[in-house]
Amino acid sequence: MSKKIDPATLKITDMRFADIDGAPKRCTLIKIFTNQGLVGYGEVRDASSRTYAAMLKSRIIGENPCNIDKIFRRIKQFGGHSRQAGGVCGIEVALWDLAGKAWGVPVWQLLGGKFRDQVRIYCDTDSEGGGRDMGKALVERMKQGYTYLKMDLGIELLMKQKNCLSAPLGFLEKMREYKTVFVTPHGSIDPRAMRGEAYDLFNTPHGLTGIHLTEKGLDYLDKYMHDVRSEIGYEIPIAIDHLGHIPVEDCIKLAKRLEKYNLAWMEDPVPWQLTDQYKRIAQATTVPLGTGEDIYLKENFKPLLESGALAVVHPDILTAGGILETHKIGDMAEDYGVQMSIHMAESPIACLAAVHVAAATRNFMALEVHSVDVPWWADLVAPRLKIQDGYIAVPDAPGLGIESLNEKLIEEKLHPDFPVAWASTEEWDKEWANDRQWS
Ligand SMILES: [Mg+2]
Repeated sequence: MSKKIDPATLKITDMRFADIDGAPKRCTLIKIFTNQGLVGYGEVRDASSRTYAAMLKSRIIGENPCNIDKIFRRIKQFGGHSRQAGGVCGIEVALWDLAGKAWGVPVWQLLGGKFRDQVRIYCDTDSEGGGRDMGKALVERMKQGYTYLKMDLGIELLMKQKNCLSAPLGFLEKMREYKTVFVTPHGSIDPRAMRGEAYDLFNTPHGLTGIHLTEKGLDYLDKYMHDVRSEIGYEIPIAIDHLGHIPVEDCIKLAKRLEKYNLAWMEDPVPWQLTDQYKRIAQATTVPLGTGEDIYLKENFKPLLESGALAVVHPDILTAGGILETHKIGDMAEDYGVQMSIHMAESPIACLAAVHVAAATRNFMALEVHSVDVPWWADLVAPRLKIQDGYIAVPDAPGLGIESLNEKLIEEKLHPDFPVAWASTEEWDKEWANDRQWS
């Protein structure tokens, strides 16, 4: 960037999108343009909708992007939990990128400086077969240098086993049937799964499914975890996720079985809204509990932290409220003696946003990268995002540390529903409402 930027007179002039698929899911990448040629990069939460960001365009045009907190407070009323926060958070990230570039400093510096020069990565690992196979796949990760592991351990492993699960007859068969219908490339969410009977099946909260683990099912999962530990040893931390939609009592039974395997955390055993159920699990077992990837705003982490049930908060930058809010969540967790790890299943833009927060937050432990097996993922940005021996180096370049996006690759990976990258978003210029939540 040769032209000198004047931060005082910087103004937002436009916002545009490119939707790509397979990174590993659908990602809406954001560019926010300014009156001085400076462009900021952001991203909507994985498998969300660009509409959540587009509807905010008319609310940010003309604003100075360096006033991040002011703009965030203007738009935060349009965010909700999980994917509904994607627009607010994606814009917030792009504002940090612009402010950093305008003032010539990296985001971590604007957050107060860093606690570390490199950020520990953990990656989800999938494997067919039994615990030994999973263990071997995890050993491969360890050979690549990863120092922290996570895997799935839940009812998915029992779906093909006899007498391991009980449920209203026919329910599990329907789940199995839909799973085979909705196999899409790259693990993207199939929109059909969000409609009709399939929606009702997969969106029944844990306690209401009627699914229970049998003793045989518990034995199976116990042995699976034992076999994993036999391969990877007991010295490396491992977290588990995707227990499946089982009720709180079954979570407790399973957690008790798994205490001896020294878990880093058990993730999202029940919906995060159910603070009392988290408390029940925490009081019944010594397995550390973690949640947070679907929680919007610091204030919604508070009841869980106050309950004393959590060992780990696990926010996603693109749901929690963006860079500053996630940093605040980390600080609040520290007050309760709780660690922060970060959930991330998006493109290198979101990954770098998380790297800056991780660098600047003391109680940070590990950052998830969901795409280590997607060969082109790291090439989406220049300079190429490098994971070296299980770590990402914290960049010193201004803003997020992205010089440019790989436009050719973005063209190649465009989602078929949005065949033109960075097309005009003029239709959102006049979106308007009386945005006040009191009278
Ligand atoms: Mg998870």
